Amino acid sequence: MEKEIFDCHCHFVDKEDFELYKKTANATKFLNIRSTNNSGLVKPYSFDTFKDEEDMFLTESVDLYKLDEELIRVEENLKNNERIIAIKIYLGYQSFFANDERIVKVTQLAKKYGVSMVFHCGETYDPNSDSQTNDNYADAKYIEDLAVNFKEVNFIGSHLNWPDFDNIFELCERYENVFTCISGCLDAIDREERDKQVKELINILNKYLRKYPNLKNKLMYGTDFFAIDLGFSDVSDYIKIVEGLELSEIEKEKILCTNIFEAYRKLGEEGK
Ligand SMILES: [Zn+2]
Repeated sequence: MEKEIFDCHCHFVDKEDFELYKKTANATKFLNIRSTNNSGLVKPYSFDTFKDEEDMFLTESVDLYKLDEELIRVEENLKNNERIIAIKIYLGYQSFFANDERIVKVTQLAKKYGVSMVFHCGETYDPNSDSQTNDNYADAKYIEDLAVNFKEVNFIGSHLNWPDFDNIFELCERYENVFTCISGCLDAIDREERDKQVKELINILNKYLRKYPNLKNKLMYGTDFFAIDLGFSDVSDYIKIVEGLELSEIEKEKILCTNIFEAYRKLGEEGK
């Protein structure tokens, strides 16, 4: 059987994006993460666009500035669309910490419908300048309160909380319900620079895999594909990161696929 590879973090707004992605992707299953209307993000997709893509799973997303109406809309969709397996929160793009009262309300909804919570963590993308952290809204450390208070819900702090790795890896080690992914950690366009990034990332991850023995069960493959510029739309190198880890083949397969079934429990229930 062909090796199953699950991209746990990509952004397709329309079918053209998906076709562009397939040119450089290695994955066989996809979690298409929905945006909110914020600068630096692609447009939120319509759920109808991908209804015939059997290998694609979906997330909801919440605009925290319009919380009350969003909670009603999201609940309606969670009731009617079994392929929605998580709710995405854009920490940093919206000025809230993960333990904010608004996000607690969203988490209550996630609990009710058995879906996971996925957060943008770490640096935010700004098309007009280098990535940056202006504040620490997007720091994964604030997920801790949720992880403690909602044991039945899984929390994914995306992008390794770049560049504050310890803050997310510590939570992954300590709490059964916290996970992370390597998506979005490569952005160089130049070949040489890209190779350097891949190598650096492998070194960083190997160091932390030694420090945190449970991390290999918490790390997921993802690309953060979005069709804005080449640095993010060519995702071919992400697989090299996993290949370079000091892990057995079976452990690598967990990162490439099965850990995602653990992090997104609804997916696990639907059948693997
Ligand atoms: Zn993303």
